[in-house]
Amino acid sequence: MKSVDDHLADILLTVRPLAPLEVDLEQALGTMLAEEVTSPVPLPPFDNSAMDGYAVRAEDVAQAPVTLSVIGDIAAGDGRPLVVGPGTATRIMTGAPMPAGADAVVPVEWTDGGTAQVTIERPAPWGYSIRRAGEDVHAGDVVLTAGTPIGPAQLGILAGVGRRRVLVRPRPRVVVISTGAELAEPGTPLAPGQIWESNSYTLIAAVREAGGEGYRAGIVADDAGQFLDQLDAQLLRADVVITSGGVSMGAYEPVKEALGPLGTVRFNRVAMQPGMPQGFGVVGEDQIPIFALPGNPVSSFVSFMLFVRPALQKMRGLPVGPTPVVRAVTTSSLRSPEGRRSYLRAVLAADGSVAPVQRQGSHQLAALAMANALLVVPENVTEVPVGATVEVIPL
Ligand code: AMP
Ligand code: MG
Repeated sequence: MKSVDDHLADILLTVRPLAPLEVDLEQALGTMLAEEVTSPVPLPPFDNSAMDGYAVRAEDVAQAPVTLSVIGDIAAGDGRPLVVGPGTATRIMTGAPMPAGADAVVPVEWTDGGTAQVTIERPAPWGYSIRRAGEDVHAGDVVLTAGTPIGPAQLGILAGVGRRRVLVRPRPRVVVISTGAELAEPGTPLAPGQIWESNSYTLIAAVREAGGEGYRAGIVADDAGQFLDQLDAQLLRADVVITSGGVSMGAYEPVKEALGPLGTVRFNRVAMQPGMPQGFGVVGEDQIPIFALPGNPVSSFVSFMLFVRPALQKMRGLPVGPTPVVRAVTTSSLRSPEGRRSYLRAVLAADGSVAPVQRQGSHQLAALAMANALLVVPENVTEVPVGATVEVIPL
């Protein structure tokens, strides 16, 4: 049997960061910036008012209360070249360009709010309530460096420096193909011997959470030819393929039957529970990575977390470290098979305790849905007493 760590190491040797791609801003959320972004203009581009009020000459209001004549209104977006001379003011709104001659803004709250004439109750010093050109960013300044993850604020500054498109490492496109003659689409009635297909929903959601785009390729019955046809069709839009099912030791294992002879996908018994049968390799002209995961719902999910998630991180251009674990105290004693690393479904509590859930079968999806963590029992440990400190992967 191959160790979990060796299997992951082989996977990470094979997958590569995706090539940078120019995308519209709408597609950039969750990607990694692949260029340095500078601002073509200063931000703000011009001196403007920070308040709704009156643009004045500070020296004219130094002896407030004073009354000035109001020579106009400047709204945000108003580009007229107004000039404030001695004894005059303009009304001005937040974000509106400062008129020439004015060197302070008196907030409307300090005035009588007049439109022809305004009485100013309090002096405003030179520069008051003016947002200066370039006080956020100078023209030519770097606003984002390559490798920055693009979240809401990063999207904002990209738009704020006038970009429509940006060079990023895109979100990996991941196609999920479920195999199994017994699988029926949720929402359709079950015939005898059928179960509703669930793995693709779990896996696509996990792909999204891991920063990829997930595509459901539907269900393929247990036929190697049909599986290869579906795989061929899906390779066009995939950076990664995940299959579920059809990799065990039984008869009717279409994924193993179809991919085994290619020679580019290896099937291993990995020393873990759940999820022992694992296939990984590359397919197609473009050497697309393919993960052939076991079909049991808990197995396929745990396999995703351990193997696919780190691979997606690498493809996104993120550093890949060890799976983050926390330490917690187990509330029950545990058993684990010799020589295999166990990932028990568990509930991690805020007080630092962790309780394995009742049903640990790899088909017991409802129990997985009640868990919020995987409790890890190392290969060389077969029994863990109550109260022992264990490693836990929060989900
Ligand atoms: P397999 O790996 O194909 O032998 O499947 C192992 C078990 O997982 C069987 O009980 C299957 O019915 C179940 N299974 C396989 N694929 C799925 C799926 N996509 N959704 C739910 N259960 C599945
Ligand atoms: Mg099957």
